[in-house]
Amino acid sequence: MIQTKDGWPQPYALLDAQPYWEGLAAGQLKYQRCTGCGEAVWPAHSFCPHCDADELVWQAAKGTGTLYSFSTVMRGPTPAFSSIAPYTVGFVEMDEGYHLFAQIEGAPETLRIGARMTARLIERGGQRLPVFAAA
Ligand SMILES: [Zn+2]
Repeated sequence: MIQTKDGWPQPYALLDAQPYWEGLAAGQLKYQRCTGCGEAVWPAHSFCPHCDADELVWQAAKGTGTLYSFSTVMRGPTPAFSSIAPYTVGFVEMDEGYHLFAQIEGAPETLRIGARMTARLIERGGQRLPVFAAA
């Protein structure tokens, strides 16, 4: 696992997802959509998992959705994560029709499945990442 000086593990950036990471660096949250069947595709693929077409295009997401599931971590697995514990992670059902896993901000007792969420980008060890909070 690659770690930065400040201890944050860095994401394993798959080649298929390179436009996602470049989008984040430019301040945009991106995902794939199939021009064959119209479905949103995430995580990044080289073909559509819905219809097998290889006609995927990258689009910018609005950064909004609803909370689909979440779990609060009481003890971080590394010193960097321990420094922000307790913290919550979960899946947001994006308005574009895909599910994105990310950190969810806010006191766990205030989070509700189905609540409207909005993303913002934060920097962790030089890498921009989306985190969500109640809209
Ligand atoms: Zn498709």
